[in-house]
Amino acid sequence: MKNREEIIETVKAAGIIGAGGGGFPSYEKLKARVDIIIANGSECEPLLNSDKTLLREYPYKVIEGLDYVMQVTGAKIGYITIKKQYEDIIAIIKKAIPKGKNIKLHLQDNYYPAGDEFLTVYDVTGKVIPEGGLPLQVGVIVNNVLSLAQIYDALNGKVVTERLITLTGSVVSPQVVTVPIGATYRDLLSLAGGKLNSTDVLIDGGPMMGQIIKDYDMGVSKTTSGLIVLPEDHIITNMQSLSISKMVKKSKAACCQCFRCTDLCPRNLIGHKIFPHKTMRTIDYNLSEPTEHITSAFLCSQCGVCELIACDTMQLSPRKIYAEYRKLLVSKGVKNPHTNSELSALPELEYRKVPMSMLLKKLDLLKYNLPTPYTGNKTFDKVRISLNSHIGSQAIANIMVGEMVKIGDVIAMSPHDTLGTLYHASIKGIITDINEEWIEIEKGAMDR
Ligand code: SF4
Ligand code: SF4
Repeated sequence: MKNREEIIETVKAAGIIGAGGGGFPSYEKLKARVDIIIANGSECEPLLNSDKTLLREYPYKVIEGLDYVMQVTGAKIGYITIKKQYEDIIAIIKKAIPKGKNIKLHLQDNYYPAGDEFLTVYDVTGKVIPEGGLPLQVGVIVNNVLSLAQIYDALNGKVVTERLITLTGSVVSPQVVTVPIGATYRDLLSLAGGKLNSTDVLIDGGPMMGQIIKDYDMGVSKTTSGLIVLPEDHIITNMQSLSISKMVKKSKAACCQCFRCTDLCPRNLIGHKIFPHKTMRTIDYNLSEPTEHITSAFLCSQCGVCELIACDTMQLSPRKIYAEYRKLLVSKGVKNPHTNSELSALPELEYRKVPMSMLLKKLDLLKYNLPTPYTGNKTFDKVRISLNSHIGSQAIANIMVGEMVKIGDVIAMSPHDTLGTLYHASIKGIITDINEEWIEIEKGAMDR
């Protein structure tokens, strides 16, 4: 039986980071003492089924991982969040929770973005995380369910070399599959039977927060939970392709200050002082001083509700404006000045949540809401492992081109004593390329 320090060290050495997209190194969270741990299984991005598949196939890994984290942090209670409509999975989890463990299910409505940790913490505890803050500040740690399963694996001797991914949208065979970290987009598209139309666009992540992929030779990262293929003229691909300069011009002519982006903004609804319509007004009148409506970019979660749901008629994107401002402010060394902690969620929150059924219909995604059967583990002849999927200091390769590696060998790590992580070889083979962004491994002829 490992002690607290040994568990934290094992989690660190396994290279576990927030698998839901955050990329925050998991060992760092374990150093805290909190009251509540939340296993986030809400998976609110439309069409993605990776976390649900994990909970269905390997509930014991999530539950035991959660139990380890509760022990290490001294938490008295653990919650597993899941949407209440998944009755079959709920039954599986209920059965898998051992008697005597203070682990409960927290069932959520099917709304977007239920899995945003600010919303999840409010849903479970009724507490509002301060602006720009962390769940820790209200006595909570939130872990994605896959990160917890990886903690279970780490304590059973397995480092992070693979993950579950949903392949869906306009493809021949939608599915959920376990693939090596770094599996290329090209190989994964081919595994899904290819695109239905050659002009379709590939998105890494969910439709709401994902990014269009241009280079199919790049690989999926530790935080990639899904790949979605959508037509090139789909509203989501159109909005993603709209440049900031075009959008600003359009906003000057088209923003009617209707407030809908603010009314529906989930962060505004939990009481944070972010007002996207006022930010749009600020850019429309070229007010470039860092007013609170510009620095509130630090409060935006990039959920996309303002862009894809609230402003679907005018097709303006406060989200993009905030992303750009945040980059600019960070480059100028400006720190987040918004740290209010005396906050209450607005009474309107309950009835302004965006129901998933409405979102699917509005974004023309209903036809892609298809079954995604779990097809098990797959491997490939080549991987490109991204070294930038985590928060913290850059990971640096500790191997050379031409070196042989086997699954689980450390190939890159952040400098000792900094916040960061390690990366491991996800296939057996030869290192064929290294740069600051990624490491490529190819199977040798003997291993194919
Ligand atoms: S950006 Fe769109 S939703 Fe927001 S105030 Fe302007 S027109 Fe309304
Ligand atoms: S993306 Fe839009 S809706 Fe989402 S938090 Fe940012 S401003 Fe609010």
